Amino acid sequence: MRFILFALLMHLMCFHTLAQSTFIHCGHLIDGTSEQVKHQQTIKIEGNKIVGIEAGYAEAPDTATVIDLKDHYIMPGFIDMHVHIEGEASPGRYSERFSMEKQDVALRATMYCDRTLQAGFTTVRDLGGTGVNVSLKKAINAGYIEGPRIYTAEKSLATTGGHADPSNGVKDDLKGDPGPKEGVINSIEDAKKAVRQRYKNGADCIKITATGGVLSVAKDGMGPQFTIEEVKAVVDAAADYGYVTAAHAHGKEGMRRAVLGGIHTIEHGTFMDDEVIELMKEHGTYYVPTISAGKFVYDKAMTEPFFFPAIIRPKAIAIGPQIQETFAKAYKGGVKIAFGTDTGVSPHGDNAKEFEFMVEAGMPEIEAILSATKVASEALRVNDIIGSITEGKLADIIAVKGNPIEDIKRLQQIDFVMKDGIVYKQ
Ligand SMILES: [Zn+2]
Repeated sequence: MRFILFALLMHLMCFHTLAQSTFIHCGHLIDGTSEQVKHQQTIKIEGNKIVGIEAGYAEAPDTATVIDLKDHYIMPGFIDMHVHIEGEASPGRYSERFSMEKQDVALRATMYCDRTLQAGFTTVRDLGGTGVNVSLKKAINAGYIEGPRIYTAEKSLATTGGHADPSNGVKDDLKGDPGPKEGVINSIEDAKKAVRQRYKNGADCIKITATGGVLSVAKDGMGPQFTIEEVKAVVDAAADYGYVTAAHAHGKEGMRRAVLGGIHTIEHGTFMDDEVIELMKEHGTYYVPTISAGKFVYDKAMTEPFFFPAIIRPKAIAIGPQIQETFAKAYKGGVKIAFGTDTGVSPHGDNAKEFEFMVEAGMPEIEAILSATKVASEALRVNDIIGSITEGKLADIIAVKGNPIEDIKRLQQIDFVMKDGIVYKQ
């Protein structure tokens, strides 16, 4: 018996001391802390953590794995602050909620998770689905399926008839009267209950729909849909759980109320003007642009008349093309910009196209890269564990061939993906 215990103890100790050691030889390193590019560096990894960065190509002990990326540009894994991992826009999207079981949604979404990770996005913030997003997060964390690290809002919060009211466009006998449990609120008390319900359901952050939206089956895409008091109640309740809060917003008044109510990130921000820009700077609010979604809905509405229901087309045409211009204005105005695409509107795996749109609108390539690493990790308040290639961070590392600072489109062809110390693409 004593021998067995001793053997067991030795076994445990070996596991502890022999965490797999990996050396990555990096030709060029953008480490996510500054605009500087370093050359000929070695990243040392033990298990899932970065334990050191060294100048030159350090010689590895026999027990270590060496990964040769001498002709690559290495960066921290990208963070997309706005995706919907459960689905993807399609002409069939609106009937799916009556025909697809949750398990069907989950199984299909495993494919989206995989595509996202293969595209170099090792972390995403999911801003609303049905609750399947929580299960996907758990399955990824447990290693059952491959995908990015997910921080999810579970179900978005709306007011009655608002952008995320799940019964919009449904006939009366199916409509019901969804409440805080389903993410629909109409008072301060409802707001608290809805946030606490999200906590209970396994959410990691909170999303509200502060104005109308493009893809809901409702007429208005711009007007405010929350009072300041309701926004404040959401933010206060979320603070008890340490949650970052996001507000979907197209029109100015809804944005203004969201910022004044203390929301941490504004999504889309379509009709943001100088006054809102100043307000956001004053309150330290981040802007998550989602140019990809704007371009996608506009293109579909213009070229495929039946892609969206008739009530949605005019909203897509009015709102879609504006976002890139707003991004340009917000960037010049000095608002903090965290990378986000609203993928799930556009196809999963195309997330990196957003970099191209950001650069097109005037942001330098290196700043676009930092917005998806450093800035996004700060906005998500996870910069203690991810967002840069520095000692002590989780080993989320990606690589491309060719210099993304000369050609940002390079980021649409990722050659190497490591998440949490495990290689998923090489
Ligand atoms: Zn969205």
